[in-house]
This record gives sequence, C-alpha cells and structure tokens, in this order.
Amino acid sequence: MAERPGTVYLVGAGPGDDGLMTVRAVELVSRADVILFDKLIPPGALDGAREDAELIDVGKIGGGEQVPQEVTEQLIVDHALAGRDVVRLKGGDPFVFGRGGEELQRCLAAGIPVEVVPGVTAGIAAPAYAGIPVTQRLVSSAVAFVTGHENPDKPETQIDWPALAAFPGTLVFYMGVRSLPRIAEKLIEGGRAGGQPAAVIERGTLPGQRQVIATLATIAEAAAAAEIRAPAITVVGEVAELGDELAWLPAARPLDGLTVAVTRARDQASTLAGRLRGLGATTVEAPAIRTEPIDATLPDLEPFDLICVTSPNGAARLLEVAGDARALAGPTIAAIGPGTARALAEGGIACDVVPERSVAEALVEELASVPVTRALIARAETARDVLPDALRERGAEVEILPLYRTVAEPLDEEARAAALGADYATFTSASSARFFHEAAGTLEGPRLVSIGPVTSEAIRELGFEPDVEATVHTPDGLVEALVADAADR
Ligand code: SAH
Repeated sequence: MAERPGTVYLVGAGPGDDGLMTVRAVELVSRADVILFDKLIPPGALDGAREDAELIDVGKIGGGEQVPQEVTEQLIVDHALAGRDVVRLKGGDPFVFGRGGEELQRCLAAGIPVEVVPGVTAGIAAPAYAGIPVTQRLVSSAVAFVTGHENPDKPETQIDWPALAAFPGTLVFYMGVRSLPRIAEKLIEGGRAGGQPAAVIERGTLPGQRQVIATLATIAEAAAAAEIRAPAITVVGEVAELGDELAWLPAARPLDGLTVAVTRARDQASTLAGRLRGLGATTVEAPAIRTEPIDATLPDLEPFDLICVTSPNGAARLLEVAGDARALAGPTIAAIGPGTARALAEGGIACDVVPERSVAEALVEELASVPVTRALIARAETARDVLPDALRERGAEVEILPLYRTVAEPLDEEARAAALGADYATFTSASSARFFHEAAGTLEGPRLVSIGPVTSEAIRELGFEPDVEATVHTPDGLVEALVADAADR
C-alpha cells in the first residue's frame, strides 16, 4: 500500500459525441494513471490518455458478460490505495443510472479522496440531437428520467407504472428497445393516452444517429420496423412531436453517417479530419505520406528580391531555418495560396503576394507585375517546375531551397481496409494520391475527392477518375466540394 492513496475521479464522458466531453473530463483523462471505462463512452474518449496509462475495459463484453460491479469497485479501490490516480469513465453522467453513487460510497468508506465530474446525459442529449427539447414552455414543464430491468422476466418493483402514466410532463426512458412494447403497454394501461407522441432515438449524438417518431400506441411497432437497436432513448410526451419541426441535425451535420478517409500526412491530417468530424463524418486516418525535414541553411538574402513559398510545410520549415523573422527581411515574399500565407503569418511574416487558388500557375500569373531579378523558391525536394521555369523564362535567376521531402508511410491492413471501405477518400496533394495508391494497391472503392487539377491529374495517371474536384484548392475548399457532392447523392 502506498503512503498516500491516489485520487479517484468519477467522470461522465457524455453521450457519445467526442465534442460533448467536458473540458475537465478531457483534462483528467490526459493525466490519469489508470482509466476504468465502460462500453458507452465516446469513440475518441481515450485518445488523450497517457502513453503509459493503464486502460481497463470494465464494460459489457459483446453485449453479454459484464465485469461485475463488485469487481469494478474493488479495482478502483485497489489502484487508488496503491497510490495511483484513477479515472472511472462512464457514459453520459456518472450519477444518472451509472452506479456512480455506489462507487462514491465505496471510495469514501475506504478513505480515498474523490472528485465527481458530471457529464452530459444521454436522456437530454439524444433527444436534443433529434430536435426534441425535453421541456418546452406551454408544452411540458417537467421531465422524469426512468430506467428498469432490461430483462423482462425480472420483477419491476421500482417502477410505479400508474404514477408514471399520470406524470404531468415528459418521460425519458433509458431502456433497451426490447422493453419498448412493455413500456407502451404499461403506460397505456396506467391511463396515458395512446395517441400521445413518442420518439425513440438510436445512437444519440453519435455518427449515424437515427430516430423514429410515432405515438405511444404505435412506437414499438414503428421502432421494430425501422430496426432500431441499442443504445436507444425513448421519449414519451407532447415534446416528441417537435422532432419533425425542429430537426436541425441534417443541416448542421451534412456528412452524418458518412465515412471519409484522410490520406494526408499525420501532422496535417488532424485539422482536416477534425473539420470533417465537425460536419458529422466518421473519419479514417490513413496517412500514406509523412514529411521529413531536409537539413538546410538560409543563403545570404542580399541578392534576392523574391522569396516564393509553395506549401504550408515549406513555410514552417523556412521559419525554422530562418530562426527569426528578421532574417527574412528585404525580399518580396510570395505564398502559393492562403494556407501557406497563414503558416507564414504564424511566424510573423505578412506575405506580399498571395493568389486565391493554390496552384503554381496562379502564382506565376500573380507575379507577372512584380519585378524579379533573382528568386529563392523554398519548397519540397521534388516538386513541379512550373514556377521556376516561368521565372527563368522572364530572365530571372532562380535558386531552389529544398526544405523537406515526402516519404511513403506504410499502411497496416486495418487502415487500408477501413480507407478503401470508406464512402469518400480525400487527396490533398498529388503525392498523397501516389503514396496512398502505392500503400493500398488501388484507389477502388471510395468516391475520390481531389483538392485540385494537379492532384486530379495524378489520380488519372494511376488509372482512376476523381469523382469530386474542389474549386477552391484548399482543405476548406475540399470539404466544401465533398459536402456538395454528398448533398447531391
Ligand atoms: N449514465 C448514462 C446512462 C447509463 S444507462 C447517461 O447519463 O447517459 C445506459 C442507457 O443509456 C442505455 O441503455 C441507453 O438507453 C442510454 N444511452 C446511453 N448512451 C446513449 C446514446 N448515445 N443514445 C441513446 N441512448 C443512450
């Protein structure tokens, strides 16, 4: 036993959408020595856990066996008494049908310090994502949360059905779909109107959330017909009807239910993937490329009157090599597009020339009116020669400063299968298309989304036709084109 016990954190992880975890929950997950987690936690809930943290699954195994509550509580206590900080991570809120209260009692009895972190509960969040406010002025001014045995053979001593039937407000059931016929029957028996609106929400706040709205008398049949599965929340009350009028999710999450593969290098993929997830997509990260810095020193800039930077990566490396923004003072600075200009701005460099479309041809055009005698091009080791050629043609001297190279990153079989099985695969550069093809062996399967003409050409050279090409050649432009394509289908 350690001199001092660790702290136990009883943490709610929210209903499923990663974005609905609280700031405190994310912070504690990132610090914990041990995390004991349930089945119904958000898919990305453990992403921020420490490399060396011990992660213990105490949820149901395959819908059947569950680690017994007693064993879970003993594990919590043992780890804490050994001096470790323990996060007990639960779906939704720890005190709403989560047995958090029992775990708290057990810890306090053992003299272990505890902190409770409430979470967004599924009974409010799932209806909210279905456009159903659990209370609404003039419609419902009370709400009851109800659970019961999943097993219909067990007696339900805790549920007073006639009292619930008479409850003047919204009823929210945290119960399996198998219980639906019985819930409806008991409530109607107890005097609740069969014509009252009712809704079932499956996988609330998760990708592919579905809901069925019917009446109390018909909801069980309607849910069965739609093959609604666990986890599901059932709402009974006048507010359920609002789900049709207030459905906001399809517009806010136009990519809901779709899977999108992101083939960019890992360090760049997360912003694109994050953007796609924000729109409801499930993302598969399949980084077939990685960038590797090349050792370089900044030449004396005195004789140069122009520096061209042709990618955000090049911008980041140039700033690194320069060491200080003042080292780049003097020449005109041109970026190939807004993304690269933003990367330079992060280092305190305001670009003089930025075309709207991120292609070399657009930069050449934009530079037509800029006097150039000697240019430095900061870029990848291998790149197209459109820009240096055009400048040389104008009589300028051109020097290339190679700052990084892209190298292939092997894909494991799981990532390959997931990417090829996705609805869409996104390509943000010609090299990402080539390297992904090399790693996966094909581009067959997903709809292919290209960031622009150069990437599209690379896809064609591989023997495939891009299904979508962005009109604005930036990651945001790519997302916009993908959303438009999804809406058309
Ligand atoms: N503590 C959790 C509830 C645990 S009980 C909370 O506060 O949300 C588990 C039940 O919650 C499931 O059987 C199901 O009815 C419901 N549930 C949990 N997550 C859900 C989700 N994402 N969508 C619909 N129902 C969910």
